Amino acid sequence: MLFTPKPNSALLIVGHGSTENPDSSTPYFDHAEEIRRRRLFGEVHVCFWKEEPSMREALYMIDAREVYIVPDFISEGYFTQEVIPRELELEGPTTIRDGKTLHYCLPVGVHKSMTELILTRAREVAPQAAPEDTTLIITGHGTGLNQNSTKAIRDQVDLIAASGAGYKMVTDAYMEEQPFIAEWDKLSETQNVVVVPFFISDGLHSFQDIPVLLGIEPEVGPAASQTEVFRQNPHFLRGKTLYYSSAIGTEPLLADVILDQITDFDEKYSPGPVAGANSGFLPSQLKQILRSGVNRIGQIYIYRDLCEFAYALFHVEDEDLATQPAFGGLDHFTDAGKAREISTYSEDGEYRFTKGKTNLRRGWILTLDTEQDLLRALDQFYPACTALFIKHRDGELSVQNLREKLARQTGMYRYAGTISDAGAQELVKQICGPAHQCAKRILWRIDEQTPLEDSEASRFNGIPGDAERGTAIPLLCREACNHFVAECRKAAKAEFDKK
Ligand code: SF4
Repeated sequence: MLFTPKPNSALLIVGHGSTENPDSSTPYFDHAEEIRRRRLFGEVHVCFWKEEPSMREALYMIDAREVYIVPDFISEGYFTQEVIPRELELEGPTTIRDGKTLHYCLPVGVHKSMTELILTRAREVAPQAAPEDTTLIITGHGTGLNQNSTKAIRDQVDLIAASGAGYKMVTDAYMEEQPFIAEWDKLSETQNVVVVPFFISDGLHSFQDIPVLLGIEPEVGPAASQTEVFRQNPHFLRGKTLYYSSAIGTEPLLADVILDQITDFDEKYSPGPVAGANSGFLPSQLKQILRSGVNRIGQIYIYRDLCEFAYALFHVEDEDLATQPAFGGLDHFTDAGKAREISTYSEDGEYRFTKGKTNLRRGWILTLDTEQDLLRALDQFYPACTALFIKHRDGELSVQNLREKLARQTGMYRYAGTISDAGAQELVKQICGPAHQCAKRILWRIDEQTPLEDSEASRFNGIPGDAERGTAIPLLCREACNHFVAECRKAAKAEFDKK
């Protein structure tokens, strides 16, 4: 499908994300990067339910007045029909709010072109397996939380069976409901079996859990990004030849499905033109801020005109090296997208899902040519923080108090809302602030009537380390992070147990 470029619009890709597995969000960034590379939108952003930036913060990062929102989810259901509309305050296919026109598209997984993607993946992973001697199993999570994901897989099974692809058998199987993927050998009549996980990412389920159920691994192993060699196919198990692919969402062609969903949206709803070109407000503001003498954000120095580079970013503790010839041996990167890789793990291998944590690794320098690239890099080191600072300065930032944040929690985190005020106040002292490795300045209160008690954490200004070495963009915490919410849940449970 030919896509008509939208240079004055923004694309916002929404994903689930994970507080445990960094690979969960990798495909979303990859899809965004691919669409950015094609220069089809004025801006391309990603946001998450469980990682930063949150959906609410992401809208502050967008200059464009027209925004296409595409859920990078495999099915319609709870997240796409309840969580995302609620978080982004959407009122239907198109919502006009705060000067922005927001178009809400269907999730990628329900698009008809997913069928071809599954077949492409199956052929890639098992090129030598003749379809007539092969069973193709599409696997998902199962369980009652989202019946629509099961339906999406069954739909694909029917479509592939009717497609003439020639597989001897096509079936579905699940981790937690029948037919079970653990019984893949009993489900297949053929010598060759190809299993394609119907997930967006090679996260916990598809890369770590399902291989154990298949018998490829004896126990749950490390995340994909912490494994040096991706698994080799085929696997000779249970008297059969098994081919296991990576998750369907990691297919680069999924970027095209995102675009297909936008084209379908335009065809269905024919949205009228939105007046106003992309203003480039945020990059130009960032440029002015740096010209005014600001040279730091979080644990990063932002140098202007270092050697032939317009901008150079490096860890504050690497300043001596960065200013030496050949950057003192620091690893030199020139792509803004590298910021995500640099900031994903700490020096000792901890997954940094809370980006305000003061454990950014050292040993790198990132040079960039434009304010747009600089903003993109900063948005990966400290998601949305530059925009939040600018909007706060301009009096346009809305802050979410803790009680409102906890009231929006779902599933097992719903219980976090039962924490007492005293318990929440105590948690701020135990979890927030630089003494506990968080560099953010808290803007929220417990609720409108209840400010935070005075403490080192509640007093902290969002500028870690020695502020006199330069002026800095403070990291602002406009709503409690997922880490804080998870701790509220634990504390609420402890309070209940004490009663
Ligand atoms: S809630 Fe606390 S720990 Fe979480 S980002 Fe905000 S200040 Fe940091």
